[in-house]
Amino acid sequence: MFEYAPAPESRAVVDINPSYGLFIDGAFVDPADGASFKTINPASEEVLSEIAEAGPADVDRAVAAARAAYDKVWSRMPGRDRAKYLYRIARIIQERGRELAVLESLDNGKPIRESRDVDIPLVAAHFFYYAGWADKLAHAGFGPAPKPLGVAAQVIPWNFPLLMLAWKIAPALAAGNTVVLKPAETTPLTALLFAEICQQADLPPGVVNIVTGAGETGRALVEHDGVDKIAFTGSTEVGKAIARAVAGSRKKVTLELGGKAANVIFEDAPIDQAVEGIVNGIFFNQGHVCCAGSRLLVQESVYEPVLASLKRRMARLRVGDPLDKNTDIGAINSAAQLERIRALSDIGGEEGAERWSPPCELPDNGFWFAPTIFTGVTQAHRIAREEIFGPVLSVLTFRTPAEAVEKANNTPYGLSAGVWTDKGSRILWMADRLRAGVVWANTFNKFDPSSPFGGYKESGYGREGGRHGLEAYLDV
Ligand code: NAP
Ligand code: MG
Repeated sequence: MFEYAPAPESRAVVDINPSYGLFIDGAFVDPADGASFKTINPASEEVLSEIAEAGPADVDRAVAAARAAYDKVWSRMPGRDRAKYLYRIARIIQERGRELAVLESLDNGKPIRESRDVDIPLVAAHFFYYAGWADKLAHAGFGPAPKPLGVAAQVIPWNFPLLMLAWKIAPALAAGNTVVLKPAETTPLTALLFAEICQQADLPPGVVNIVTGAGETGRALVEHDGVDKIAFTGSTEVGKAIARAVAGSRKKVTLELGGKAANVIFEDAPIDQAVEGIVNGIFFNQGHVCCAGSRLLVQESVYEPVLASLKRRMARLRVGDPLDKNTDIGAINSAAQLERIRALSDIGGEEGAERWSPPCELPDNGFWFAPTIFTGVTQAHRIAREEIFGPVLSVLTFRTPAEAVEKANNTPYGLSAGVWTDKGSRILWMADRLRAGVVWANTFNKFDPSSPFGGYKESGYGREGGRHGLEAYLDV
C-alpha cells in the first residue's frame, strides 16, 4: 500500500458566523419565537454554528416577502434584466468557489475533491445555463409568452446541499418566479452563504428567501396557502406525504425522490473502466446519491474478474478527513443516516448475503462507514430493494441481455441506470427497455445543466435541468 502525506485544504478560507438568522426580504432576521438548532461537522462532531429555526409565523413572513417581490418587481422585470442577476450570481459563485467548497465539506462531510471539482462547478454552471434562458423563454417551445407560476416553495435534502439549491433556484428565477427555500437541517450553511451572495449581487429583496429548520418547517412551507408551486427533493416517504397534502389544490408539484439504480456490466465491457464506473457509481459522495448505482448486475461469464478487480480497487479507497485532498470517501452526513446504513447492512447479512469491506482504519470521532459490498444477493433481499443511501453495493448476476433488463427494472424506483458494453447497438437496445429517467452508457453519475434529470415510478415526477426544467416553473 502507498502512504500519503496529508494534504489538507485550509479551513481558514471561510468565515462561519457563530449564529445565523433567517434570510427574508433581503435581510437576515431573527425567528419570531427565537428557536434555533445546531449544525455540526459530521467528520468531527464539532458544532459549526447555531441556526435559526423557522416556525409557521416565519414561513408566513417569507412567503409574503416572496409574493410582494413577485408582484412588484420580479415578474415585471424583462428577462434580459433577470438574466443579468443570474449571471452575476454565477460569477460570484465561481469567484467564491473555494470558500463554498470548504464550507460544503465542513457541513456535509463530503470530500473536498468532490465539493471543489463537482458540486461547486456544477452550481455555477446551472446559474450560467439558466441565465441564458431568462430572455429566451418565448423560444423555449412553450408558446410565445409563457408566464411564471408565482411563489415557489422548495425543499431540499442534505446530500448535495448547494447543488440542489442551484437546481431549484436557477430555473425558478430564470422563469420569473420568486422562491422560499428550506435547506436540510444538517446542511444549512452553504444556503446561508448563498443568501449573502444574493445580497452581494444586489438581487432585489424577497426574490430569494431561505428559511432554515427541520421537517416541520418544510411541512409548514409546502402546506402554505400562499405558494403556487412545490419543488421537493428527498425521500419517497415524505414525497408521498406531500403529494397527498396538496392533492386537489392549485399547487403544481415536482418530486425528485429515491432510487435503486442498476449498473449493468456486460462481458464485452472494458473491465478496468467498468470497475472505475462501479466505484464512482456507488462510492461517490459516500453513496448519498439518489441515482447511485447501488445494484451491480454482472454478466456471469465475467463475474470472477470483475469482482477481483473491484475488491483490489476498493482496497485503495482512502476514507477519512473530508478536507484532505487525498480523501475518496468522507464522513456519513449524520448519526441518524449512519444508523440507517448500519441497520440495512445488518439485515443484508442476516438474509444470507456475503459481506465484504477492505481493511480500513476509521477515525474515532464523527460518522464513518467503510466501503462495503454484498455478494450472493438475490432480488428478494431487502438490500437489493431498498434505498440504502450509503457506500454499500449489492452484487447480482445475469446471463442474457433480456435477463439484465428484467432484473434492472425489478424495482419500485426508476431514476437512473448504467450500461457497460463495447457494442453501441446494445446500448441503444438497453436504453429502450430500461425504465429509468437517465441511462448512462460506459460512464456513471455524470451531470450537466442542459440535460433533464428525473424519475419513473416511485422516483417521482417532473424533470430538472435543461429546457424541461424550465417547464416546471412556467404556466404551460
Ligand atoms: P427527507 O426526510 O425526505 O428530507 C428531505 C427534505 O424534506 C429535508 O429538507 C427535510 O427536512 C424535509 N422534510 C422532512 N419532512 C418533511 C415534511 N413532512 N414536509 C416537508 N418537508 C419535509 O429525507 P432525508 O431525511 O434527508 O433522508 C431520508 C432518506 O431519503 C434517505 O435515507 C434516502 O433514502 C432518501 N433521500 C433521497 C434523496 C434524493 O435525492 N432522492 C436525497 C436525500 C435523501 P430535514 O432534513 O431538515 O428534517
Ligand atoms: Mg452539518
